[in-house]
Amino acid sequence: MRIKITNGIIITLNENGDVLYNHDLIINDKVIEAIVPLGTAQGVFDKIIDAKNQVVMPGYINTHMHFYSTMVRGLGKAEPSADFQEVLTNLWWRLDKKLTLDDVYYSTIVMLIEAIKKGCTTLIDHHASPFAIAGSLDRIEDAFTQAGLRGAMCYELSDRDGAKIAQEGIDENIRYIKKCHENPSDMRAAMFGLHASFTIGDETLRKAVQAAKEYDVGFHVHTAEAESDQTDTLKMTGKRVVERFYSEGILGKKTIAAHCIHIADKERALLAETDTMVVHNPQSNMNNAVGIAYTVKLAGSGILLGIGTDAMTVDMAQEVRVALWAQHLNQHNPTSAFMETANMLYKNNGLIAERVFNGLKTGILEKGYKADVILCDYISPTELSNSTALGHLIFGISGAPVDTTIVDGKILMEKRIIKLDIDEQAIMAKSRELSAKLWNRF
Ligand SMILES: [Zn+2]
Repeated sequence: MRIKITNGIIITLNENGDVLYNHDLIINDKVIEAIVPLGTAQGVFDKIIDAKNQVVMPGYINTHMHFYSTMVRGLGKAEPSADFQEVLTNLWWRLDKKLTLDDVYYSTIVMLIEAIKKGCTTLIDHHASPFAIAGSLDRIEDAFTQAGLRGAMCYELSDRDGAKIAQEGIDENIRYIKKCHENPSDMRAAMFGLHASFTIGDETLRKAVQAAKEYDVGFHVHTAEAESDQTDTLKMTGKRVVERFYSEGILGKKTIAAHCIHIADKERALLAETDTMVVHNPQSNMNNAVGIAYTVKLAGSGILLGIGTDAMTVDMAQEVRVALWAQHLNQHNPTSAFMETANMLYKNNGLIAERVFNGLKTGILEKGYKADVILCDYISPTELSNSTALGHLIFGISGAPVDTTIVDGKILMEKRIIKLDIDEQAIMAKSRELSAKLWNRF
């Protein structure tokens, strides 16, 4: 399939930050073939998309997600929680124990349909279903395949449900990692999931490191999300969370440490020294009242800092706005953190995907990059150029409707109509049916 996207304003997010007018973007099969002056492209096109009154930009990337939490929406049965630990015990650790493999699949496909509508083209998930572990990552993968999106999977290993379930968690990670190694595809990637330091004892952690060692794969782990992760880890091991991860061999350039809110300077230095990726999740952090990571300091230490939704939404454009305001509020500084925040979404998430998906080129519109492209309705009220694009992205385009979503050269949504061979109404009906049963078991 060769596609020409014409008449749009192309926000490339390339190194120069080029915003191109009067250019055509040409997609050939799965990649961007070229961006050329309007009307100069040669050859035959299978499809021409008119992007008049639209911006053409890279698809969004979500670097920390939990599909399994989808069916909690509207559930009012959890006890009020006084702190983060109680949020886990009253809600998440009650819910995830009750999930079936069918719940896992429907929780994923529902959110992937939403992701297409929000222009999110790549997602990195962190999954838990402790009484339905074996094969759970395959069910998430099935949903990704059906939706046509790029996905990275892992199972969040934990000792909180006993040794047998911990071993199943290791096995599921390794099984899926092997599967990805044996069937290489730039649509799929595997990480080794760990819930968090405070729920994993030394023995299990060492088993995980041993099992993962054979493969060139990073870990994906909640890190110092609440202060209690530090106090519990200190009590259990005598070390702070990041120091423990450092000495156990968890950190490295393919590892994602999500949150990193309650870390000391020496821990931040260890993350930087090991080139570990950090993913910030401001909406979730505010919702759980755990604090806000000091992103300016993290980015200033040279850490590759991305942004995820931690399952609050799949709307990256909304998350980045909140990230900026959270930083302003937290630092009592209305001009702080603009570039650090913009870079998380519009630059670093693409670099994180590149590491996790073994060299994948996405997140930029440039020759040779993957054709992960979205079109948003946007008639600019002010100058939209190289020097103003980030301001438009955060304050304007973030609220603009996504009209078209293309992943790997395949049109998944056009003129806001999902183009997949799926019955969205039937999927939502089945999700309502399964979630009602889940709530009864909760
Ligand atoms: Zn999370």
